[in-house]
Amino acid sequence: MKERLPIDSLNKNSDGKTIELLGWIDTIRDHGGVLFADLRNRSGKVQLVFDVSNKDEVFRRLAGSLRSEFVVSVKGCVKPRPDNSVNKKIPTGEVEVWVDGIDVLNPSLALPFYPGDAVSDETRLKYRFLDLRSSGMLSNLAALDKIMRITREYFFANDFIEVLTPLLTKSTPEGARDYLVPARMQKGAFFALPQSPQLFKQVLMSAGVERYYQIAKCFRDEDLRSDRQPEFTQIDMEMSFADADEVMETVWKLLMKIFSGFSLKLPEPEIMKYENAIAKYGTDKPDLRLTVSLIENLTEIFKDTGFNVFKSQIEKGNKIASFFAERNFSGSELNELTNTAKEFGAGGLVWIKKSGTELKSPVLKFFGKEEIERILKLFPDSGTIFACSGGNAFEIIGRMRIEVAEKFNLKKDGFFALWITEAPLFEKDKEGNVQATHHPFTAPIGDVFTGEAMELKSHSYDFVINGEEIGGGSVRIHNVEMQKRIFEILKIPEEEYNKKFGFLLGALSYGCPPHGGFAVGLERLAAMLLGLKSIRDVIAFPKTQNACCPLTGAPDKVSEKQLKDLGLKLLQD
Ligand code: ASP
Repeated sequence: MKERLPIDSLNKNSDGKTIELLGWIDTIRDHGGVLFADLRNRSGKVQLVFDVSNKDEVFRRLAGSLRSEFVVSVKGCVKPRPDNSVNKKIPTGEVEVWVDGIDVLNPSLALPFYPGDAVSDETRLKYRFLDLRSSGMLSNLAALDKIMRITREYFFANDFIEVLTPLLTKSTPEGARDYLVPARMQKGAFFALPQSPQLFKQVLMSAGVERYYQIAKCFRDEDLRSDRQPEFTQIDMEMSFADADEVMETVWKLLMKIFSGFSLKLPEPEIMKYENAIAKYGTDKPDLRLTVSLIENLTEIFKDTGFNVFKSQIEKGNKIASFFAERNFSGSELNELTNTAKEFGAGGLVWIKKSGTELKSPVLKFFGKEEIERILKLFPDSGTIFACSGGNAFEIIGRMRIEVAEKFNLKKDGFFALWITEAPLFEKDKEGNVQATHHPFTAPIGDVFTGEAMELKSHSYDFVINGEEIGGGSVRIHNVEMQKRIFEILKIPEEEYNKKFGFLLGALSYGCPPHGGFAVGLERLAAMLLGLKSIRDVIAFPKTQNACCPLTGAPDKVSEKQLKDLGLKLLQD
């Protein structure tokens, strides 16, 4: 392969060199007699100078015809820029290339938008090739590539093998709707695109692969609230004969390698049980950067209170949760925070300001002396105490901790990681149906045959960095009877579980080793490493909020003939 000179390598030391460059005309400026343009490719950007005054007609015409995004080849000589025109913002800012040969390899139409134009996401994605060219996205894609390279090197060095699992498959229950693909050869039957390779990686353990990984595409048909994509990538892994500690250590070492590949440090994660996370952070994704206090449960302090709001909540069996921020908030800030708490579902927000020994709060008059003393014992410093009561007081106070910390910058810098372990094995959905908190293949802690299902915990471990879940995994069930019992608790009839998961039950029945695994969300990790808000900024061709691709126009209608071949008829056009 021909070696190309990286543009960003041009500097004062290149002075006098004759070079050839290939790339796109970025911007162009006509200074009468002298044309300036920036030439750009993936390796950087440099200023070109076309001094047309002493050039022939052909050169003049070509130079004059140049427009943004023309693809060109230029030959020229590197010269230092005059002192007053040095551009400190780019690595090549001290030099420019005086062009004496130019070839237009391909012109461009006038652009639908220019960098910095306020255009809709829809338009940006429609012309994604232009968007990728101009928005620094190429370095994001390169970063994603780097993570995948580090991952592959790490797993290779640790005796894992990458096994590709099918995309045309059966449903894997990861809690979302499936994308379905009609099967032409079996009319009326459908493949499901995998929500994850979960079942295949377990079958691979039964097959004796022992250490599997895959950089795997996953598909989940969910409403695209909160920065999700219908199609995303997991660094998926599974290990035989490994307990939770071994899997966690393997994942942690991989993540450390990836972080150090980006010159970032990931300190050793804490290990926290799910129930402690909920009690102290009000969430299973604690953000350890926040410098506000942990949550304190005030229910016991107010058990005989005369404050009616708390009293009636305690009588209903609800709780009172609180936290402290070392800050003196203004009246309007407190009003705003109260409104936010209400938006989160609270009836109101109690606050107490403390400055030395002086206390201020509209509800203080309703509190007993002992109640106040006990609260101050928990929060002895000057600042503000917040509390709320209700069925979801811990969740709301957890969200308020984040709100207060983000809004008033009560937050440390850097990365803070933790493992959340032992999540409940089951939870109830909105209709009160029992469902698996992770997925139904997670090993239980305790006895699933005799224990109260909703009290069982699981051998799960999720990895959380700065309040975001970067991945999750668990020790799996390898005993077929236990797996069937879980399906029973989930009220999946025998006939149905045999139909859906018979192949897994088969794999578990013929000598399947104990195993456990994990999956990291690749795009989420990349966005975090690059400090980007949205995973869309690391995906070359993301979907819109309506799960569409404006570039290709997918999803799209298909012809009558295609439908007929598949044995399908649409209910509506
Ligand atoms: N399959 C799980 C998921 O996609 C991860 C795992 O348990 O390995 O969340």
